[in-house]
Amino acid sequence: MSEYFKYRDDTLHVEKVSLTDIAQRFGTPCYVYSRAALTDAYRQFAEALQGREHLICYAVKANPNLAILNLFAKLGAGFDIVSGGELQRVLAAGGAANKVVFSGVGKSEAEMRLALSVGIRCFNVESAPELDRLNEVAGSMGMIAPISLRVNPDVDAKTHPYISTGLKQNKFGVAYTEALGLYRKAAAMPYLRVTGIDCHIGSQLTEVSPFIAAAEKVLALVDQLKVEGIVLEHIDLGGGLGICYDDETPPVIAEYAEALLQALHGRSESLIVEPGRVLVGNAGILLTRIEYLKHGEEKNFAIVDAAMNDLMRPALYDAFHAIHPVQKNESTVQVYEVVGPICETGDFIAHGREMAVVQGDVLAVMSAGAYGMSMSSNYNTRPRAAEVMVDGEHVHLVREREKTEQLYASEKIID
Ligand SMILES: *Cc1c(COP(=O)(O)O)cnc(C)c1O
Repeated sequence: MSEYFKYRDDTLHVEKVSLTDIAQRFGTPCYVYSRAALTDAYRQFAEALQGREHLICYAVKANPNLAILNLFAKLGAGFDIVSGGELQRVLAAGGAANKVVFSGVGKSEAEMRLALSVGIRCFNVESAPELDRLNEVAGSMGMIAPISLRVNPDVDAKTHPYISTGLKQNKFGVAYTEALGLYRKAAAMPYLRVTGIDCHIGSQLTEVSPFIAAAEKVLALVDQLKVEGIVLEHIDLGGGLGICYDDETPPVIAEYAEALLQALHGRSESLIVEPGRVLVGNAGILLTRIEYLKHGEEKNFAIVDAAMNDLMRPALYDAFHAIHPVQKNESTVQVYEVVGPICETGDFIAHGREMAVVQGDVLAVMSAGAYGMSMSSNYNTRPRAAEVMVDGEHVHLVREREKTEQLYASEKIID
C-alpha cells in the first residue's frame, strides 16, 4: 500500500480522508484518486529528467478525467493522445496543443484536420499510407505537419501479449527495416516536416533492459538519418513503465529515467516520454460494496457492486488487483471469489482472496487508477461509476455517477 492510501486505526484513508466517508457520501462503485500521489509521480519524472531538455507527455488513455489532465497540465506536462476525442479533452482541460503528440495506427482525416488546426507538437506516424494521407490533408489546409515515425524496434517487452506493442507481429509502428526508406519519402513530401522519431514497445514493463534495447535501435536509426542529412529535433522513447500490483518489482521512475538519460548521453536532441500507467495507476482505487456473501458448494463468493464494466483489467488480462476491506473487522477469514453482478463468468475482480468481511462491507480495489475508468463501459446498462479526487482533507467529485436515463437518451423507438 502506498503512503497515500493507509489505515488509520482500522479505517483505510486516502490522504486525510476516510474511505468509509467517501463511500457513504458518493455511493459505490466509486473511483477515488489522490492528488498528492498523482503530483508525486509526475514530480519524480520531472526531477529525474531535470538538466536535459525534455517533455513528459502523459498518455491520456490511462485515465482521461479532466481533473487529472488539468493537474498534469498545471505541473507542465504535455500529452500523448490516440484520438481526436482525447485531443478535445486535453484542450478542455487546459492542456497546451503545442505539447501534444498524436499516436495511433488509424488516424482519420477529421482527426488530422483537428490536430493540425490547433497546432499539435507532432504526429507519430505509424505507416506509409498514413504519411500520404497526412501530407494530403496538411496540403489541403495550406499547412505543414510536423512528424515523427513510430518505429517498431522488434524488442520483446516481456509483458502480457495484449499490451506488447514492439514486436514484428504487432500492428504498431513501421518496420525497423523500412524506417529509413520511409524517412526519405517523408523528407521529400512538401507538406510534412520531419522533426523526430518515436517508439513505444508495450505496457506494464517491469525491467529496464527492453527499454534500453529499443532505445539503442532507435538511436542507430537517428545516426543513419543524420548521415543522410535528416536531422531530428526530438527522440520519443514512449511509455510503458510498469507499477507494482502484486509482487512485481519494476524499476522506480528515477532508475528508469536515469537509464534513458545514459542511453542518450552526448546527444543534443530533446527527449519525449509518454508515461501513462506509472503516473496514475497507484494513485487511484475503486471502492465497491459487498452486496451478498454467497457460499456455494465449492467456492465462496463475495458479490460486489463493481463489475467488469467498471474495471475490465481482471477479465481482459487476468490482471491482479490487491483488495482491502475499508473497515478492518473481526469476522472470520474466508477465501472468496470477488465477483460482480454481470452475466458473464468472466466477470470477476479477483480470485481466491482471504478476507474477513460481512455483507455490506466496502472494499478498496487497489492500483485501479490506470486503465480502470478509462476502459469502463455500460455493459448490462450499468451507469459508469463516480470519480472523486482527494486533496489533503478536501474531497472533490470530478465526475458524477452516470444516470441510467443518460444511457439510452440518444436511442429511438421505431414504428
Ligand atoms: C498506451 C500508450 C502509452 C502509455 O503506456 P503506459 O504503459 O500506460 O505507460 C504511451 N504511448 C503510446 C503510443 C501508447 O499507446
